[in-house]
Amino acid sequence: MNQDCIFCKIAAKQIPSQIIYEDEYILAFPDIQPQAPVHFLVIPKKHIESLLEAQPEDSELFGHVMSILPEIARQANLAEDGFRVVINTKHNGGQTVPHLHWHILGGRFMTWPPG
Ligand code: AMP
Ligand code: ZN
Repeated sequence: MNQDCIFCKIAAKQIPSQIIYEDEYILAFPDIQPQAPVHFLVIPKKHIESLLEAQPEDSELFGHVMSILPEIARQANLAEDGFRVVINTKHNGGQTVPHLHWHILGGRFMTWPPG
């Protein structure tokens, strides 16, 4: 755990969040500033600064997240109309919290290209 990291603190339950999914690898909770009617964040419990810092030994985590994301989307009733999954990475990607996270956005049409 990184003591200065807000998402590590959420994973350690030092900062409360409304956890909608949790297992040994990951945690999911609503984004505090939702950009869509449904906006969840999925974070690894392990501190990984961004996609660029992920290591080969994290491949199990990545496979796991990919299998759980559609389950979370189904639970949130996003399966019929669809949804978007985003990993903002570093400055140009718009990453503001330096702990890897997946955004799940749904409940409205998502434009393309993104802003
Ligand atoms: P990003 O800009 O991709 O790094 O995404 C970080 C996201 O974390 C933003 O959408 C923030 O609204 C969200 N966020 C920051 N602090 C919290 C928090 N304490 N609980 C839930 N979401 C948060
Ligand atoms: Zn962290």
